[in-house]
Amino acid sequence: MPVDATLPYDDQNIFAKILRGEIPNRTVYEDEWALAFHDINPQAPIHILVIPKGTYVSWDDFSGKASEAEIAGFIRAVGHVAREQGLVAPGYRLLANAGIDSHQEVPHLHVHLFGGKALGPMLMR
Ligand code: AMP
Repeated sequence: MPVDATLPYDDQNIFAKILRGEIPNRTVYEDEWALAFHDINPQAPIHILVIPKGTYVSWDDFSGKASEAEIAGFIRAVGHVAREQGLVAPGYRLLANAGIDSHQEVPHLHVHLFGGKALGPMLMR
């Protein structure tokens, strides 16, 4: 079910539980600002989710309210993970769903990092 990303942050969402260590995850990277872990239902050979540690529902919420340090830390973490995964030379795709039309399912900002094969053109059906 897509979520209404204009609602206040719900600290019972699944990524909040992952950040609190209440639900296991396959972590690939963690620092002060971000956690990156394998998507449970991968859509590419490499499919990693990078989430900020702060409580932000969506890209809109984050870009409007996060501090400069949080934004820089999160963006740097996404780039770091892509480099660490060896994806710079072959290339990769980033995707952030925000709100109902995008079918965002988890109301904690996350960037999908896809790679590990030629991904082809992005298709909108
Ligand atoms: P979105 O539709 O952009 O909100 O994407 C949510 C993503 O979270 C989907 O790709 C799910 O497969 C993934 N997901 C949901 N629960 C978990 C979990 N416990 N661990 C890892 N990934 C998850």
